[in-house]
Amino acid sequence: MLKSAELVKTMICLSRPGTVAGPFAKVLVLYTGGTIGMATRDGVFVPMKNILIPRLKTIPIFYDEKFANEYFTEEQKHNHLIVQESPDDGLSTDVHRVVYVVEEFDPLLDSSNMDITDWSMIANKIYSSYDQYDGFVVLHGTDTMAYTASALSFMCENLGKPVIFTGSQIPIFEARSDGRDNFISSLIVAGNHCIPEVLICFDRKIFRGNRCIKKDSSRLSAFDSPNMQPLVTLAINIMVDWPSVFRSWEASKFQVHTTMCPNVALLRIFPGITTQTVRAFFRPPIEGIVLQTFGAGNAPNRKDLLEVFKEASDWGVIIVNITQCTRGAVATSYATGKALNDAGIISGSDMTPEAALAKLKYVLSKDEWTLEKKREYMGHNLRGEMTTNVEGKLSILDFELIESVAKTLCLSSRDEIAKLRESLYPNLILSASRKGDIKTLEKLRQTGGNISATNQDGRTALHVACRNSKLETVGYLLHHGASVHVKDYHGDNPLIDAIDMKNEVVIKMLVQAGAVIPWPPIKVAMELCSIVLGQDLNAIKCWKLAGVDFNSIDYNGRTALHVAVCRREFEITKYLIENGAEYTIEDIFGNTALSHAKKLEHCEILDVLQNSMDSECL
Ligand code: ASP
Repeated sequence: MLKSAELVKTMICLSRPGTVAGPFAKVLVLYTGGTIGMATRDGVFVPMKNILIPRLKTIPIFYDEKFANEYFTEEQKHNHLIVQESPDDGLSTDVHRVVYVVEEFDPLLDSSNMDITDWSMIANKIYSSYDQYDGFVVLHGTDTMAYTASALSFMCENLGKPVIFTGSQIPIFEARSDGRDNFISSLIVAGNHCIPEVLICFDRKIFRGNRCIKKDSSRLSAFDSPNMQPLVTLAINIMVDWPSVFRSWEASKFQVHTTMCPNVALLRIFPGITTQTVRAFFRPPIEGIVLQTFGAGNAPNRKDLLEVFKEASDWGVIIVNITQCTRGAVATSYATGKALNDAGIISGSDMTPEAALAKLKYVLSKDEWTLEKKREYMGHNLRGEMTTNVEGKLSILDFELIESVAKTLCLSSRDEIAKLRESLYPNLILSASRKGDIKTLEKLRQTGGNISATNQDGRTALHVACRNSKLETVGYLLHHGASVHVKDYHGDNPLIDAIDMKNEVVIKMLVQAGAVIPWPPIKVAMELCSIVLGQDLNAIKCWKLAGVDFNSIDYNGRTALHVAVCRREFEITKYLIENGAEYTIEDIFGNTALSHAKKLEHCEILDVLQNSMDSECL
């Protein structure tokens, strides 16, 4: 995988890994502390200075000694490490080996002791070395990792490279440590996948940092992102959910905003909470409160409480409503929730407490913004931290296409984007339907997409799902109100597509949902006659399932039965007769199916007709 020894030497000599193109990725590791590098002293875990790098150098996957001896200078050997190349480490030819530099913070911290100053330090480090590296890994304690990652996601403005937080539940030096896997995965992803977000890597998943919570203090899967799927899944392959990756809307340079307002608090409502307690929270110098309410955003509908909220909001305190539930969003579907809204409280949608606090600190510290703007921005999706449309709807920003078109056209207002959405959504819905991508269909539907929208040819998602025999998608669409009656420019409804595809299950589903054959009888008859000519009994059966009348006549007054008899199609004749075809219908020349059978002296067919006559007489 090495391009040449010469190239490697040049890179090392430059001591600026970021400047070298080639098969190496360059990652800066900021080691802030946490269990991952802790050791026991007096029976408890404490962060220990200067032990991580020497220990990493004893673990072959973290340090390719042969490579280092050959190419690193003595000075570089101090903190330059390289991920080992081995045939079974999952690194394929298009995944680069990672050269990484570890910068150890002093002092190393248990993350419970970290605060805004430490967040700023991390942000500044990233900023000052931004151009030299492909990505960043922050080794951090798990306890407040979700807070720091959330804060960093706001502090890093127009981020264009990955910043991956990781740590472990068991120190990296111990035999059963989860730290090795978390760290090596973070290094490989940070060096190879340009996800311009602040992320958390834990237990073979990589989540958006500001969507995470620490959910478990003892299991190795310590983190969860309850309202969002992981952005990366680390299985045999590294799978990145690219469409969900959040990208900055501004085509501006990366910068960090390192001041954060400290005057914010989290108030968790509980039954019987007193007005005094609530009032105490709202005392100066408080500037922002994250209110954690019940369920979908409800609080006791008490005049005393609402008055405190209203007063505080009128003074200029920004109050954001989030739910106490782990999963889901706040809405105004209950009177109790609506009352909060009316008191000036901003919906925090599905933000985690960590994200809501960080965002409030960030927004409040933006001196150049007016209070109105700060309030407005609290309700906007700034870093993918929330689903913006109220009532728990998903953001249209989730859709790469819309995002990039909006960018190209320099659209930024809600109205402009709504218009763009109107024109793009039908095609997105049809395309998702063609692929059977119910998840995307659901997102599009939830973000206001019309499930029965038509494309330029008048076709709907249901047409497309039927044409592609996407059974589950047909079911999904029907259960979400997709119309079975929309005809495309050829006059075909989805039932015609299903018949064409001879998909009996889909035909039945459509018929059950009220679909009928949309064609005039003459067209149906012509189609049936031609199917008989093609000897396609299965197709005939599908038409039957769709509710066809086999006695429809074509422009010569002929039925499918006329053709079947003339063509001596015994099986088809039998089937048509058994399914209501009449042998006495005269075409414009006065011929019936029966007269044809007699003329042709087709005994078997005459028998079928005879039997039918007999049963009619009975
Ligand atoms: N107390 C440690 C910390 O947050 C826990 C950990 O790293 O897992 O620093």
